[in-house]
Amino acid sequence: MASLRELRAALTAAGVDALWVSDPANVRALSGFSSGKDGKVLVTGDSATLYTDARYTVQAQEESRLPQVIARPPETYQDAAARVQGQRVGFEAEHLTVAGLEALRAHWNATLVPTRGLVESVRLVKSPEEVQAIRAAQAIADRVFEAVRPTIQAGVRELDVALALELGLRRAGAEVGFDVIVASGPRGAMPHGVASERVIEDGDLVTIDFGARVQGYHSDMTRTVAVGKPSEALCRVYRAVLEAETAAVAAIRPGVKAGDLDALARGILERHGLAEAFAHSLGHGVGLSIHEGPSLRAGSEDVLEPGMVVTVEPGAYLPGVGGVRIEDLVLVTESGHEVLSRAPKEQL
Ligand code: ZN
Ligand code: ZN
Repeated sequence: MASLRELRAALTAAGVDALWVSDPANVRALSGFSSGKDGKVLVTGDSATLYTDARYTVQAQEESRLPQVIARPPETYQDAAARVQGQRVGFEAEHLTVAGLEALRAHWNATLVPTRGLVESVRLVKSPEEVQAIRAAQAIADRVFEAVRPTIQAGVRELDVALALELGLRRAGAEVGFDVIVASGPRGAMPHGVASERVIEDGDLVTIDFGARVQGYHSDMTRTVAVGKPSEALCRVYRAVLEAETAAVAAIRPGVKAGDLDALARGILERHGLAEAFAHSLGHGVGLSIHEGPSLRAGSEDVLEPGMVVTVEPGAYLPGVGGVRIEDLVLVTESGHEVLSRAPKEQL
């Protein structure tokens, strides 16, 4: 869970005395309270309070490590008003609705300041308990993939592959982390091609991107598998992506700039004539959100630290032909890295 001490240091650096937290993942990171429906956290210099309504009284008592105020607006804002009187209070510009901001303005005698990424910044490095949850989620995903892999054959619909993966995750006690991507044949050219009615054909490459969620924490992995014998042209693309992926994972260690990892993978794909085909960034952090910091994209100044969990997922997408993506989930360790995703990769 995110540290209040670190967050208060971030507030000071951002020039605010307090922070109104409205993003559900940030609320959960600070309090442990898991309902995305109605939960807000107010952090001041000497207090941190969870606000939710009476539907969640029991859940808040069970989950929240912060004291709770059970109220509905406008009482919520009136209770908080006393704590923020005359202060500079940050709000989450990327998450608070316009109506939410108007309500704060109406009830508080405080200076409201837009902020970005403050709680996110203290979520970058995971605690051992958080790493454990991510590890557990990925272990389930690995087992499910192993069980489903033999059923990915010609004549099977993408939807059926996705359903089998989802069932496997649920049976293992996990949630489905995000919409399962199964993109076969020419659909492989869509980086986010969620499973469709398309029937997988002999000679297809099939890109499968899925993850589990355990205690709110996600896993994320992509494998591209061959059905029958894909064309030599597709196999060449696959080998290029695998080379880029392997090289970028191998380079992960504390102190490395995320933008340099992106450049490393991009350079390899460029040498294979696939610069244009790699249409997205190299990877992202994973935690309570499926996409969070650090950002492994071109020009990113984020620097890797032990305890960060990131994906490395280069791809190549060729409209009308097909596509390849290979994604591993990687923990940054004191001495380098540990690859958490263990499902075998196709050798083509
Ligand atoms: Zn993924
Ligand atoms: Zn990903």
